[in-house]
Amino acid sequence: ADGDDRPLRVESLTKTFGGILAVDSATFAVERGSITGLIGPNGAGKSTTFNLITGVHEPDSGRIYFDGEDITGLQPHRVAERGLVRTFQITRELGEMTVLENMLLAFQNQRGEALWRAVLPGVRGSVVDQERELLERAWETLELFEIDHLAHEEAGTLSGGQRKLLELSRALLTDPELLLLDEPMAGVNPTLEGKLLERIHDLTDRGYTFLIVEHDMDVIMENCERVIVMHQGSVLADGPPAAIQADERVIEAYLGG
Ligand code: ADP
Ligand code: MG
Repeated sequence: ADGDDRPLRVESLTKTFGGILAVDSATFAVERGSITGLIGPNGAGKSTTFNLITGVHEPDSGRIYFDGEDITGLQPHRVAERGLVRTFQITRELGEMTVLENMLLAFQNQRGEALWRAVLPGVRGSVVDQERELLERAWETLELFEIDHLAHEEAGTLSGGQRKLLELSRALLTDPELLLLDEPMAGVNPTLEGKLLERIHDLTDRGYTFLIVEHDMDVIMENCERVIVMHQGSVLADGPPAAIQADERVIEAYLGG
C-alpha cells in the first residue's frame, strides 16, 4: 500500500518477558520470492520474533508490516488469513489422525471461513462441491511432496522427515504468500532434506516467500539469498551469506556463546 514491495517489514520490534529482553528493537525486511534465513545462538530471540510476526505475542513496541499494511497486534488467525503462515509441529493429538485428516484440519484451523472464499472465488456450488475441491487440493499438495501414499496412515507413524513434509504441506494448503519455517530440517535425513529444499526453491519461483529459522549453517548458507543474524534480541548483521560468514561480529557471537 506504500510502494515498498518487500512483503514483510519489521520495525524496532521489542518484547520483554518479565525482566528478560527477548527481542530488542529488531528491524529487518524480507524480499518477495526470496528465502531469507534468521539465525543466531540459542536465546537470541528468533522464536519470539516468529511469535510476534504471527500474532502469538504482542510486541511492547515496534511495528510489523505485511504487504504494506500494519498487522501489529492482529490475532494469529487474522495474520494467517492474510497469507502470512507458519508451520506447526504435528502434536500427539494430531499424530492420531491420518495424514489426510491433518491436511483438512489445517485448512479449517488456520484460515477458517475466509479461505473458502479465497480458494474458491466465485464458487456458487454446494458445500459438497467445495469439499470435493478442497480434497483435490489436499491430494495435489500431498503428491507434490510425494507423501500421498501415506494419506491414510496415522501422522504419528511418519518419520521425522515425512512429518516435516506434512507440516509444510499443511501450511501450503492454506494458500499462503509468506511462510515462516522454524527448523524445517530438524530430524530430516539428507535425501528428504534435498527434496524439501528443492520444493522450497520451486515455490519461490512461483512467488512464495520464505523466512527460515534453521540451525544447520550449511543449509542456511547454501540456500538463502539473505541472512539475518540475531544476538541477545538484536539484529547483529543482515546481508548475503558470504558477507555474513566473513563478519567478525557474527563469528564472535557464535564463539562467545
Ligand atoms: P531463540 O528462539 O533464538 O532460541 P527465544 O526467542 O526462544 O530465542 O528466546 C529469547 C529469550 O526470551 C530467551 O531468554 C528466552 O528464555 C526468553 N523467552 C522466550 N519466550 C519466553 C516466554 N514465553 N516467557 C518468558 N521468557 C521467554
Ligand atoms: Mg527458538
